[in-house]
Amino acid sequence: MAHYPFSERRDLLVLTCTHVLEGCDITLVCHHFDDNTWEFLCDGSHSEDDAIVLSIGELCEMDPSLHLVCDLPVGAAASRQSRAHAWQFGRIEGEDFYPAAAARM
Ligand SMILES: [Zn+2]
Repeated sequence: MAHYPFSERRDLLVLTCTHVLEGCDITLVCHHFDDNTWEFLCDGSHSEDDAIVLSIGELCEMDPSLHLVCDLPVGAAASRQSRAHAWQFGRIEGEDFYPAAAARM
């Protein structure tokens, strides 16, 4: 079995978009403070019709570079221009954040 880096359960369901299934790079990962949910999105525009739910384990198999964002604290986001670029880490605007988590970013 491939290395699975997330501390979340491998079968944890997360929000992603149909574009990612079609091969688009994931360029934005958010770990929301309020409800502890994860979002993995491409840089396209999104409506409710584009939203799908996959397990975090399935996404890691599709894109092993996601292991670099596996310890994203709640209230934080990681973004990049494409799969070839490095992740940039920051807070999610308008959400709470545990100050102690900043040391992990
Ligand atoms: Zn998308």
